[in-house]
Amino acid sequence: EKINMLPLVFLMFLCFVFFSRQKGGMEAMPSGDTASHIPDKTFQDVIIDKDTLSAMEDLKCYLKNPDIYEEMGARPPRGVLLYGPPGTGKTLLAQALAGEVKKGFFAVSGSDFVQVYVGVGASRIRSLFKKARKEGGGVIFIDEIDALGKKRDNANDEREQTLNALLTEMNGFHGKDGIIVLAATNRPDTLDAALLREGRFDRRIEIGLPDREGRERMLMVHTKNKHLASDVDIKEMAARTALFSGAQLESMVN
Ligand code: ADP
Repeated sequence: EKINMLPLVFLMFLCFVFFSRQKGGMEAMPSGDTASHIPDKTFQDVIIDKDTLSAMEDLKCYLKNPDIYEEMGARPPRGVLLYGPPGTGKTLLAQALAGEVKKGFFAVSGSDFVQVYVGVGASRIRSLFKKARKEGGGVIFIDEIDALGKKRDNANDEREQTLNALLTEMNGFHGKDGIIVLAATNRPDTLDAALLREGRFDRRIEIGLPDREGRERMLMVHTKNKHLASDVDIKEMAARTALFSGAQLESMVN
């Protein structure tokens, strides 16, 4: 009798361990509610070249007046891919866009979706878009989109589902929703072609490392509230910091 009970007890123990771990995992996971806020940044805070600025002004114009494209019989923008090296201001630019039009900024990172339970990532994507719609539109920012949108290898069911949810949400956009999805990556070549198709991330903006003049302007911005010695020469600093990104300049000044 006693011996027969053993496997059962063992099984119960296993079940107990499994469920308690799963519960713990669920709690540790960030919830589907992505906090949104209206950033206080504007385009003034971001040093970018003229072409990028004009592309961003275009997006701003749409967010301010979501009907404008449809009135002209054109397709409104949906997804914009910002690509370039880390620390060049992609996040800052997305925040500034939301700040310019005083609308919500909803941020997630592609790497948040790695290794969550199947289906959870997809439902988080859906609730993210629902929230953005409910709050009257704004900017959805997906950092590290490459973690989510790598070329498909059929090896990762979870990523596949999350990516499909994203594509479905983007297909279901209406111009009047006034939502723009900005996604950032430093590896655009690794992205799944499905992401780059018409009506998805069909606009691309390259954000490169700043040139000398850009560095000078950035140094001006980042030293604005710092007390500098009288012999600090910003021009010379800009000349000597070739290949520095905005983030590196900011940290050097600090
Ligand atoms: P990325 O998203 O491209 O990795 P971030 O937007 O996170 O870069 O940049 C980090 C910080 O570096 C910013 O908060 C800002 O202080 C500084 N920075 C980077 N690029 C710029 C820029 N083009 N203009 C002004 N500040 C910048």
